[in-house]
Amino acid sequence: VLILKRTGMRTALVTTLALAGLAVSVQSASAAHYIGLHLAALNGHAQPTIWFVDRTDASWPVTAAADEWNRSSRLTVGRRAECPHPGDYCPPVHQVNNSNFYGRTFRPLNADLTHISRFNFYIELSNSTPSTRRRSVACHEEGHALGLEHRQPADSCLRADNVFPNLPDAHDFNQLYSAYGHSH
Ligand SMILES: [Zn+2]
Ligand SMILES: [Zn+2]
Repeated sequence: VLILKRTGMRTALVTTLALAGLAVSVQSASAAHYIGLHLAALNGHAQPTIWFVDRTDASWPVTAAADEWNRSSRLTVGRRAECPHPGDYCPPVHQVNNSNFYGRTFRPLNADLTHISRFNFYIELSNSTPSTRRRSVACHEEGHALGLEHRQPADSCLRADNVFPNLPDAHDFNQLYSAYGHSH
């Protein structure tokens, strides 16, 4: 299980564990922005497709963040109230009470250790997040769900320090374009 934990200070560690329970790597927040983990194209979709199944209240901009990531020409990203097609990626986005982080993404891998699993794949967004940072945190965690890691300094929501840009930047979209340029 890959756990990307974002703390208030964003001094989070990234811990990667294979489904088998083996530790693959432990990296600091300065790890590469992309380490090869990505979504597969399931269910006959022409490109990888992911629906964030929104379990949060209106204070969390899950929709706005998904619409922003959907600008990637090589992914279909949306927010839905329920999973529209069983078998698609449909990670629930939960709203939780936990003062230890703003948001975190549980991102298990398939046995190939490359493609993200549909199972036990979810996001938690914490009520401890100040309202002015929720746009950034929603963008950040959804970015992890697409396979992106931390990057800084950058004018990107994938930063993991005390700066909270609301949006992805051009580099994020270039990285997705390159990461998803193969047949899955
Ligand atoms: Zn993070
Ligand atoms: Zn692939």
